[in-house]
Amino acid sequence: MPRHNSTKVSVYKTPDQEWLTLDSRFTFRCHAGLACFNRCCRTATIMLSPYDLLRLARALEINTGELLKRYTRREMDAQSNLPLVFIDLSRSPGGGCPFAGTHGCQVYHSRPAACRLFPITMGSRLAQNGIEDFYFCRRLDYCQGFDADTVWTVASWRANQGFQAYDEARREWLNLILAQGLRGPLQVEAAVLDLMATIMYDLDAFRSLAGATAFRQTCGLADETAAILEQNDAALLDFSCRYLADMLFTPGKLSGIFEKLADRFVQCISGAQKKNCAGRPAVDLKTKN
Ligand code: SF4
Ligand code: SF4
Repeated sequence: MPRHNSTKVSVYKTPDQEWLTLDSRFTFRCHAGLACFNRCCRTATIMLSPYDLLRLARALEINTGELLKRYTRREMDAQSNLPLVFIDLSRSPGGGCPFAGTHGCQVYHSRPAACRLFPITMGSRLAQNGIEDFYFCRRLDYCQGFDADTVWTVASWRANQGFQAYDEARREWLNLILAQGLRGPLQVEAAVLDLMATIMYDLDAFRSLAGATAFRQTCGLADETAAILEQNDAALLDFSCRYLADMLFTPGKLSGIFEKLADRFVQCISGAQKKNCAGRPAVDLKTKN
């Protein structure tokens, strides 16, 4: 497969790897009996979508603000200047992913999309016809999983790892990052970027904000919609992306809304951070292996 056109916007810019299609075959089996078991989790670069964060927060029974604070780091995307969130490998005492335990991944059933697809990586780019995906294989030199006889295609591996639900649930967010990237880096104050990061990734804080009267009046949010957002994580995720798209792509709206909501917003964040979200049912989130 040819390398992607550098004039397009992509979340992976320099994948110097083996290019694959959905039909490409590879052999792979990862299991605890291999000498390399867990090793890849010590150096992994795991970007988290808002859906990944929701799944992890619900699995760990903490709110999204706590999850962000304890386990992640933030970077600004060079093309869009929008915030990206990664698992912070410096948070565990010995280095490596803080969710890696002696017996493997401690959040396995809620592991992020990137971990599900590994050793395959998916990149996405925005072209004139919409988002195009591309795949490549990360053949770490110490990874013994490739020595197996089990044959996969990229498509069958995606299905086996429960990647589809995670992929579908991050598409609107991905589209935002890529669409802003096409327009160029967002030029706003740091405080506005913080607000956007919270709306994008700290969905429990955004839930508190969305329930506030000032916010509902500013957005014209109906009572029934607010009630759904209070209960339903998937609806909240969807609303957060639509709200951010409106803020980003409607001229003048971003700074205007921030000025109106700044005080209320700070209160909501601190309120959400104190709130115990343990036990919030994730029934509306798509569940798979
Ligand atoms: S290095 Fe490869 S085989 Fe070893 S644990 Fe990681 S993915 Fe599995
Ligand atoms: S979340 Fe789990 S699979 Fe992913 S890097 Fe961390 S320990 Fe490994």
